[in-house]
Amino acid sequence: MDMQAFFKLSYGLYIISARWEERDYGCVVNTLQQVTAEPPMLSVAVNKNSVTAKAILSSGHFCGVVLTEKADLALIGPFGFQNSEAVDKFASFSTARDQNGARYLTERAAARYSCAVTGTLDLDTHLLIVGRVEEAEILSDDPVMTYDYYHRVVKGGTPPTAPSYKGEAKAEAKPDAPARWRCKICGYIYEGDPLPADFICPICKKPADQFEKI
Ligand code: FE
Repeated sequence: MDMQAFFKLSYGLYIISARWEERDYGCVVNTLQQVTAEPPMLSVAVNKNSVTAKAILSSGHFCGVVLTEKADLALIGPFGFQNSEAVDKFASFSTARDQNGARYLTERAAARYSCAVTGTLDLDTHLLIVGRVEEAEILSDDPVMTYDYYHRVVKGGTPPTAPSYKGEAKAEAKPDAPARWRCKICGYIYEGDPLPADFICPICKKPADQFEKI
């Protein structure tokens, strides 16, 4: 099987969220999509170990937001690589709540859908969650973020827990190329030598000792 074939699939980037027991949960996914029109339904694949997945199943609702190209690593980093039970990922951004109490971004977002969970499919490492859309609204007309744009322009990484994890990029050995350091957590690449001892990964916020020279 040619794994390169999977790179031809295109995706967007989204934040799904839920509220459970007075706490806001949310994470970045690339797997939100519409599956039926009448009634309007969305599906999303979420890692089983995600606390956001547990909050969605416990509350019976989730909210999905389409990110725009204005979503930078300062936004995607916390939502993609930190834990909702450890940090308030929404704290630095403009937000609102839907009718179910789920918090969502109102900036750097193109659209919002609030859904009631109608079913799940166990996919071993992930859960495919299906929901009926109860509310939908456009938040801006800015261009939406594609997964390709995220990798090419934002230069973001993909966590190993994602359903479409692309693995570790192979470094090309060029004699005059700057030294490169890779974050072992999220895959972010730092170019330069030495890696500053107080460097903090801009994506996952892990310290310099989590980087390896490649
Ligand atoms: Fe990182």
